[in-house]
Amino acid sequence: MRVGRYEISTLVDARFAVDGGAMFGVVPRTLWERDFPPDARNRVALASRCLAALDRAAGQVVVVGTGIGGRWDAQRADWLALDRTGGGIETGLAALGVRREDVTDVILTHLHADHAGGVARAGAGGRLELTFPRARHHVQRRAWQLAHAPSEKDEGLFRPDDLELLGHSNLLHLVDGDAQLLPEVELVASEGHTAGLQLPRFRGGGAHLTWCGDVIPTHAHLRPAWVAAYDLLPVTTIEEKKVLLAEALEDDGVLAFEHDPSMAACRLREDEDGHPVFREAVEL
Ligand SMILES: [Zn+2]
Repeated sequence: MRVGRYEISTLVDARFAVDGGAMFGVVPRTLWERDFPPDARNRVALASRCLAALDRAAGQVVVVGTGIGGRWDAQRADWLALDRTGGGIETGLAALGVRREDVTDVILTHLHADHAGGVARAGAGGRLELTFPRARHHVQRRAWQLAHAPSEKDEGLFRPDDLELLGHSNLLHLVDGDAQLLPEVELVASEGHTAGLQLPRFRGGGAHLTWCGDVIPTHAHLRPAWVAAYDLLPVTTIEEKKVLLAEALEDDGVLAFEHDPSMAACRLREDEDGHPVFREAVEL
């Protein structure tokens, strides 16, 4: 898909699974299991999807999310049913003709390890190094602060070693709230899922694409009340979601899903009551 100057693609870093109840919050299993049949351990299949936006003429490569990465011990990999046989984000970028050194900008929606797990990689001799050694890494200041002082609810979701590596590089750019990050790339700040989440929105040449991160992780979560139990402020997520949906409907914009196992993105239509609902899947 082209949005203004950017050629936009998505790639799957890994496939994994989490507890269906955690993913769908107060929604009864009898409703979500139709689209997301759970396995014997009540887990639903998810993707860890990343986005690449290329402006080849300018040599600019923007990556959104670094994926869940491969650095999980055997027990956690088993819990997550982690499957990285596709080769991960570096393989996905290589298919687009992009080396990790070519990436100029990394936008991290937030710092949970299933989104920022690929910030670092094991380099020569097993030493931890930044996966994208020349990229400016854009993070909301509130997300950065939360990751260094998490609550009991989310303390298991961060990678202190990776954050220290990034914090001591000169590649960290902290952002405060909504921002025009780059020409044709805005950041929309959000608080419902976690403090200081940011959703990149590409807008140019009459096209609009919003990366929905964990605010609308799958197409099933387009329904405003379908909010994951992970969220810190679920009622805030509902309100933020309604704004995202209304804006996408107005622009005939594309909403892209970070965790949907089978659908990278979609467009919306208005239902009989005037509410924005799913219209059609979009390949990215
Ligand atoms: Zn998250």
